[in-house]
Amino acid sequence: MAKNFKITLSSDEVPKNWYNINADLPEPLPKPKNSEGHDQIAALEKAFTKAALEQEFSTERYIKIPNEVRELYMQMGRPSPLFRATRLEEKLNTPAKIYYKREDTSPTGSHKLNSAIPQAYFAKKEGVERLTTETGAGQWGTALSLACNLLDLECTVYMVRVSFNQKPDRKNIMNIYDGQVFASPSNNTKVGREILEKDPDHPGSLGIAISEAMEEALEYDNVKYTLGSVLNHVMLHQTVIGQELKVQLEKAEEEPDVMIACTGGGSNFAGALFPFIKDKIDGNSDTQFIGVEPSACPTLTKGSYEYDFGDTNGFTPLMKMYTLGHDFVAPTVHAGGLRYHGMSPQVSLLADHGLFEARSAHQQDVFKAGIMFARNEGVLPAPETTHAIKAGIDEALKAKETGEEKTIVINFSGHGMLDLKGYASYFEGTMPNSK
Ligand SMILES: *Cc1c(COP(=O)(O)O)cnc(C)c1O
Repeated sequence: MAKNFKITLSSDEVPKNWYNINADLPEPLPKPKNSEGHDQIAALEKAFTKAALEQEFSTERYIKIPNEVRELYMQMGRPSPLFRATRLEEKLNTPAKIYYKREDTSPTGSHKLNSAIPQAYFAKKEGVERLTTETGAGQWGTALSLACNLLDLECTVYMVRVSFNQKPDRKNIMNIYDGQVFASPSNNTKVGREILEKDPDHPGSLGIAISEAMEEALEYDNVKYTLGSVLNHVMLHQTVIGQELKVQLEKAEEEPDVMIACTGGGSNFAGALFPFIKDKIDGNSDTQFIGVEPSACPTLTKGSYEYDFGDTNGFTPLMKMYTLGHDFVAPTVHAGGLRYHGMSPQVSLLADHGLFEARSAHQQDVFKAGIMFARNEGVLPAPETTHAIKAGIDEALKAKETGEEKTIVINFSGHGMLDLKGYASYFEGTMPNSK
C-alpha cells in the first residue's frame, strides 16, 4: 500500500466549534489583576472587542464558529493538509514516522490568519472601523491586514523596528493587503516618543509595539486593539488546527507519540496541541508534548511563573505567566516571532503542571535543521518553525537509537520565503551566534 504522503480534508470538514481549554485545565486559570493604583482591566475593556473579552473569560468547552467565519476559513484554504516527511525520515535513517501540519499553506504563510479572521469579523459586527496591532516578524500584521481587508476594516500595524529593517518585504506585503505599517517605537504615540527620546536607535520589542497599538485603541472610540498571540481567545481560535489534525491522524490510522510546536506567545502550540492535551488531562493519552523556544529568549525554560504585564508600558493587566520580565528585550535573532518576554497564561499553566516539556534551541542549530528539512521536503520553514523541526529531528534520531517506530507530529507554523535574509546570513556565517 502506498504511504500516506498527504492527508487532506474537504472544505466541509473545517471544524464547527473552537475548543476552549479553560473548561479542562487542571486548575482554574489565575485571573488577570490590576497593578496598584491603576485599572488596566478597564483599559482592556475599552481596547478589545466585546466578543474577544467574552471568549477570553469563557469556560464553555466548545464555542461555535460563526458560519461567516467558517466560510472565510474555507475561502482562505482551510482545512490545511497534513504531510508525511518520508524523505526526511529516509535521510535520518530513522524508524520514526514524521508528520507535519502545513499552516504555511495559508495565503499569508502562517497560522496567524486563523485568529485574524474571527477578530476582524467580530470587530466589524460591533461597528468598529479600524484595528490596531503589533507585529514582530510581520506574520501577524500580514494576517490582520488581509483579514481587515476581507472584512472592510482599516488596519494599523506597529512593527518591531529590527524586523521592520530586516524585512522590508513584510512591510510591502502588508501594504499590498492595505495595512498601514509603522516602525515601532514610532513618533505616533506618547509611549513611542518617550522611548525614542532616550534612544533614537531603539531596536523595539513586541512589548513596546503592544503599548503603542493599545494607546491608539484607548484614545479613539472607533478603534479596537487586537493581539495575535498570548491571550486565551487567540489560543481558542487557533484550535481549528488541532481539531483538523485529529481527524487527519485518524484517517492515517496514527496515534501520535510525540507532538511538537515552537513557542513564541504560545498560539500555534495551543492551536495544534490543546485538543490533544485535553485527552492527556482526561487520562486518555500518553502522548509526549514539546514546546521549543530560542535560547536567546528562554521564557519557559529560564523565566519565572508569576504575575507580569503583557506589554512594556504596563497598559495590560498583570497576568500570571512564564516571563522574563516585561522590560526584557531579546537579542535580535531572526525568529522575530519568538522574541516575546511572556507566554500565554494557559500554556504557562500547563507547563507549570508538567503537561508538556519546554526546550530551548540555539539559532545556528535551528537554521541547520530548517535547511535539512527544505533540502529533503522542499518546503522552507519560517525561522520560528525551524525550532519545532530541530526538536522533531532530535526525536527521530533518538528513535533511531532505541529502534522505536515512533510517530512524531510537528506543527509547521509557517514558511520562510519572506525570511531569506536570515538564511543568507546563515550561509554567509554572519549570523549573530547569540547564546
Ligand atoms: C507568530 C509565529 C510564531 C510564534 O507565535 P506563537 O503565538 O507562539 O505561535 C511561530 N511561527 C510562525 C510562523 C509565526 O508566524
